[in-house]
Amino acid sequence: MIKIGIVGAAGRMGRNLLVAVENNKNLQLAAAIVNPSSSLVGCDVGELVGLGKTDIKIVGNITEIIEDIDVLIDFSTPSVTLTNTKLCVETNKAIVIGTTGFTEKEKKEIECCSASIPLVFAPNFSVGVNLMFNLLEQATKVMGGYADIEIIEAHHRNKVDAPSGTALKMGEVIASCLDKDLKDIAVMSREGIIGPRKSGEIGFSTIRAADIVGKHTALFADIGESIEIKHNATSRMTFANGAVRAAHWLADKSSGFYSMQDVLGL
Ligand code: NAD
Repeated sequence: MIKIGIVGAAGRMGRNLLVAVENNKNLQLAAAIVNPSSSLVGCDVGELVGLGKTDIKIVGNITEIIEDIDVLIDFSTPSVTLTNTKLCVETNKAIVIGTTGFTEKEKKEIECCSASIPLVFAPNFSVGVNLMFNLLEQATKVMGGYADIEIIEAHHRNKVDAPSGTALKMGEVIASCLDKDLKDIAVMSREGIIGPRKSGEIGFSTIRAADIVGKHTALFADIGESIEIKHNATSRMTFANGAVRAAHWLADKSSGFYSMQDVLGL
């Protein structure tokens, strides 16, 4: 059995991850790690998600349990995830990272860590979104040279980073197909007298509202026709099941920086 630790266990994703691990016959939930200041520290994990008594205690200090796990799944905050990734390097553990909102420097640090441990890093663990990345490549190859490309994303009101990690990844996939660097062609906001749209740019629009789990659209618009590639997530369990699938896949891999596309063999 592969022993799993979940960081951010009391969060929106963490609670879904606890259920997803419990539902997977090949994985064993070994630890749930929450914010050290949380009143849940010391409680039974089962109390958190209504699983009944599990005899697994919720901890606030990850160093207490790191030796008890094989793979860490971390959906928390960028600074917490970066610290935990370094701890995984020191203790030789694999890690699945779902946290978004990293700076470029932080992303590079994470990539460096994967030189010595197996690591899956994905801004979106849903199967549909990763299939969408492939569809974007196809659309860009055919229309990318002349179409106006826009990326629109919508998320719940509590999301703290924008545009979403998935929207940025969509932009990176398209930019890389065009042999460009996303930062050179991305337009993150528009306001006032901005003049006509420049060809070759990728525009981003962000919506934050109520309880939207995650919607992403890529628009490829030409004069006279346009196509939209859309994904709509309606439950966080889709991300949780994807991350659990990644943890299972990662358990016997050697060190390296893997994506969800690698996990799915796309
Ligand atoms: P959330 O705020 O509900 O949960 C984050 C949790 O981390 C909170 O409970 C917080 O208390 C906890 N935390 C803070 N410091 C901690 C520490 N030191 N140790 C352990 N836990 C700590 O947020 P969420 O909606 O669950 O999202 C978490 C992250 O996952 C965000 O970055 C979000 O964008 C990302 N996300 C990724 C995917 C994906 O598929 N990759 C899907 C959904 C969300």
